[in-house]
Amino acid sequence: MRKIAVYGKGGIGKSTTTSNISAALADMGYRVLQIGCDPKADSTKNLMHGKKITSVLDAIREKGEGNITSEDVLFQGYGGVWCVEAGGPTPGIGCAGRGIITAFEKLEEIGAYEICRPDIILYDVLGDVVCGGFAMPIRGGYARNVFIVTSGEMMALYAASNIASAVKNFGKRGYAQYSGVILNSRNIENEEALVKKALEEIGGEIVSVLPRSASVQEAEAEGKTVIEALPDSEMAGAYQKLAENILNLSAEVENNYE
Ligand code: ADP
Ligand code: SF4
Ligand code: MG
Repeated sequence: MRKIAVYGKGGIGKSTTTSNISAALADMGYRVLQIGCDPKADSTKNLMHGKKITSVLDAIREKGEGNITSEDVLFQGYGGVWCVEAGGPTPGIGCAGRGIITAFEKLEEIGAYEICRPDIILYDVLGDVVCGGFAMPIRGGYARNVFIVTSGEMMALYAASNIASAVKNFGKRGYAQYSGVILNSRNIENEEALVKKALEEIGGEIVSVLPRSASVQEAEAEGKTVIEALPDSEMAGAYQKLAENILNLSAEVENNYE
């Protein structure tokens, strides 16, 4: 099994990128589980034909802590990809990070991993604040490899730097590894050079450069990934290549659901 986290600043394209990776991996025959760890809870919507699924935290609020079953929170989308959203706290109350921990515990409790039996788990995690809670996927032995989505914009690179530092801090104690950045282009001048310059300090390499492409919006308007909606497009090719690169750069770890 592979356990991969995709971090990055809000709005940088984590969910778009992660869903397309999931779809590409599913097309290659892998069993994939995508877990959205962002209070926005829209990580998997393009795998689910535009439908926002019930998040684990919403299900807990609606049905009560002890009454959740796998059918409430586990959904299958394009290519059989299993989709989960951790969800967020009631606005103004509670801690989003704590919510992620609660959601992970609940997934284990209801036997989600035994049901999905994933070859690959992809965590799509908001990386604006790398506090204890949002660091959970890299702290708690959940994700093994961490990829960071960034553009050449300063705020995205600032977030990338924080995330890489967090992984390195925990990496010293063992598990998660920072495995490189995915450049999701915003078409700013000298973008690749800017990212490479930042990587001199942050460390790591560019795993793939994704162009900015209207295919993303076109597919999104249908509630689909580019892989599903426009499989022969150039952008689908870029996501397929990224999925291959991620497979090559991530470690095979023992299944923890057996
Ligand atoms: P995040 O999950 O990081 O908050 P999203 O994946 O939701 O960000 O992306 C935000 C918006 O950016 C999406 O609505 C999508 O249309 C757009 N987007 C992301 N990547 C690209 C790209 N490579 N080309 C064009 N638009 C993109
Ligand atoms: Fe929770 Fe992190 Fe927000 Fe603090 S910063 S309340 S730990 S989500
Ligand atoms: Mg997102």
